[in-house]
Amino acid sequence: MQITEIYKSLQGESSYAGLPCVFVRLTGCNLRCSWCDSEYTFTGGKRMTLEDVLAEVKRISPNGGLVEITGGEPMLQEREVVPLMQALLENKFQLLLETSGERSLEKVPAEVVKIVDVKCPDSGERDTFRIENLAALTSRDEVKFVISSRADYEFSRDFTEQHDLAGRVNNVLFSPAFRKDATGARDSSHCLVDPQQLAEWMLADNVPARLGLQLHKFIWDPAVKGV
Ligand code: SF4
Repeated sequence: MQITEIYKSLQGESSYAGLPCVFVRLTGCNLRCSWCDSEYTFTGGKRMTLEDVLAEVKRISPNGGLVEITGGEPMLQEREVVPLMQALLENKFQLLLETSGERSLEKVPAEVVKIVDVKCPDSGERDTFRIENLAALTSRDEVKFVISSRADYEFSRDFTEQHDLAGRVNNVLFSPAFRKDATGARDSSHCLVDPQQLAEWMLADNVPARLGLQLHKFIWDPAVKGV
């Protein structure tokens, strides 16, 4: 499979935020979100076999723990990434998969926690979530909305209600988008929607979702990669 990087950091998002995690970042994405901070994954990377990836993960984290498979869009390499998930599970790693849900999630092993980033209108990739994937979501999974505007917030609120997401998954996450050229200050000044504003909208509407901030962008300079 084509891999951009494998590294250890703190998980920055989801209900696993703050935990040490090994990130396996696959190369390539078929979407072009307006605020994407991972454009360096679109090309390049290096070919690695399943055995190479497993060995590297074990070298970085010899005592097991949390691994996230991310990208880019990892499900573009389904034929190779699904056996990798099985191998990591057999080796007792706890596994997260970050995906846009544009590709089928049917073959993802049930033990994997799927974190599905449903694209909002201002991402420029609205309606790319494959609606059949709702059937593949379980009570261990999470659905995330990255929000840049009031229109994105209303889309997320309505999608959550329409598809009873709170009843389907472990967590629904509303997260302010960061400007992709953010650098310097490690605070919410780079968010495209003020977190306070988003919190007030969520409270006013009683949205059954959790406000998520990208923790790593408050710990390290938002421009730093590999964290
Ligand atoms: S799906 Fe992810 S990697 Fe692809 S363009 Fe959107 S934010 Fe970037």
